[in-house]
Amino acid sequence: MPHPNLFVLEHPLIQQNLYYLRDKNSNSLNFRSALDEIGALMVYEVTREFKLISKEVETPLEKTTGYILEKEVTLVPILRAGLAMCDGILKLIPQARVGHLGLYRDKTTLKPVEYYCKFPPNIEESEVIIIDPMLATGGSAVAAVDYIKDRNVQSIRFVCLVASPEGIALMAENHPEVPIYTAALDRQLNDHGYILPGLGDAGDRIYGTE
Ligand code: URA
Repeated sequence: MPHPNLFVLEHPLIQQNLYYLRDKNSNSLNFRSALDEIGALMVYEVTREFKLISKEVETPLEKTTGYILEKEVTLVPILRAGLAMCDGILKLIPQARVGHLGLYRDKTTLKPVEYYCKFPPNIEESEVIIIDPMLATGGSAVAAVDYIKDRNVQSIRFVCLVASPEGIALMAENHPEVPIYTAALDRQLNDHGYILPGLGDAGDRIYGTE
């Protein structure tokens, strides 16, 4: 099923950073620095439709009207790989609050299991950006959107680096109105739930674990 709100971000600098993230020879340091940069670059597109309100401001010369974001921004990284991608985004929106959602994939069922959840108060009044570098089976993404919708949040976006057709289809089935921003839509999942060609296990590559 095609997703009605899928945005593949093709900016050359985003694509170049994705190249370094895919490269198996990039070590954790290079991987983290490319992740930082790509997060900052992607957030321009992710926030493009945020609503503004006008507000009077006094320059050193006179009064005029400026614009500020109507709502606060809350980033919700899915632990643990989402957290590293959050840093680059925070450089562009340093005033954003961060809610943490810990989900792991059960190795046999590949289904998400929650182990940690802490959201800022009044999250329903903010623009929420869910962050998870890999949209693979889509199970975690769907569960994350479910958790956020349970808090009555009206404005939700999902950002990842690489998406699989299977993950996109599951999101389209469950949350078609939630826009997905990705740097690439890859070919398929393998039998272990990894994206092909993908970039491997994002968490392991960020933190140097196996
Ligand atoms: N999670 C990852 O880190 N990589 C994949 O390819 C799929 C899920």
